[in-house]
Amino acid sequence: MNFTLTIMGTASAMPISDRNPSAQMLAVHGRLFLLDCGEGTQQQMRRAHLAFLKVEAIFISHIHGDHMFGLFGLLNSMTMYGRTADLYIYGPRALGSVLNFYRSFFGEHESYEIKFVPVDCREPQLVHTSKWVRVSAFPLSHKIECYGYRFDEIVTDRHWQENPAYHPKSYAYCSDTTPFPQLAEYVRGVDLLYHEATYPVEMADKAAERGHSTTAQAAQCARDAGAGRLVIGHYSSRIKDFDALVQECREVFPETVAAQDGDVFDF
Ligand SMILES: [Zn+2]
Ligand SMILES: [Zn+2]
Repeated sequence: MNFTLTIMGTASAMPISDRNPSAQMLAVHGRLFLLDCGEGTQQQMRRAHLAFLKVEAIFISHIHGDHMFGLFGLLNSMTMYGRTADLYIYGPRALGSVLNFYRSFFGEHESYEIKFVPVDCREPQLVHTSKWVRVSAFPLSHKIECYGYRFDEIVTDRHWQENPAYHPKSYAYCSDTTPFPQLAEYVRGVDLLYHEATYPVEMADKAAERGHSTTAQAAQCARDAGAGRLVIGHYSSRIKDFDALVQECREVFPETVAAQDGDVFDF
C-alpha cells in the first residue's frame, strides 16, 4: 500500500459534534500531504497519529473558513515542535495575504520557512514534485476561486524492471464544486476520487445555488472519469441518514463510500 488517505473532516460549513470541517492527509511512501485544513485539524492529526513534522506540503482548495480555519494553529504548533524544514503551501493567490497576516502577528519566532506558492490556473497544472509523487492543481467551479488537487505516483525505472505490470497509484481531491463537464477529464482514471456531496438529490436546487454538488452529481463525475472508487464527504449539517446518501451514489456509481471522520483508505 503506497497511498494512505486519512479523512479528518467530513462536515461542511458548520462543524458539529462528530464531524469536523474539511481536512485530509494523504501519505505517499510515508511522506505527508495535507489537503485543506479546517478547524480542529491538528487535534484530528493527533488522533490519527500523523506526525506534524512529516508534512511536506499543504494544499488549500479555497478561502472559505471550513477549509482553512485550522491553519494558524497547525503552523504555530509546527514551530513548537521545532520544525526546521521548509513547508510548502499551495492555494489561491488570496491565501498569500492570509499567511502574511499570520506571519505579521504570530510568525515572529517561526522555526521554519513557509514557502507559499500561489495557484492560478484554468487548466490542470503541475504544482509540486516530490520524491514519489507529482501533484497537479485543477480549477473547480465554486462561489469563489477554488482548486482541486490530483496526486500521481512517480514510478522509477527500477520499479518497472522489478514489476513491468505495476500500476502507478493516483488520487484526486475535488473540494467544493458544482458539476461541470471537464472535471471528469481532470480526474480521469484515478484509483480513488474524493468528491464533495453536500446535498442529497432532492436538494439539487440548493446545491446549485450554493456552489455545491449532490450525491448523484458526485457519482456521475466518478463514473464519467472511470475512477476506481469514490469517497464522498462535506455533508450538510442536516444530513443524518448516510445509508440513503450512499445509496443515491451507488445507483450511478456502485463503488462509493460515504466517509466518516477518521476513516482510512489504503490503496
Ligand atoms: Zn466547504
Ligand atoms: Zn466553499
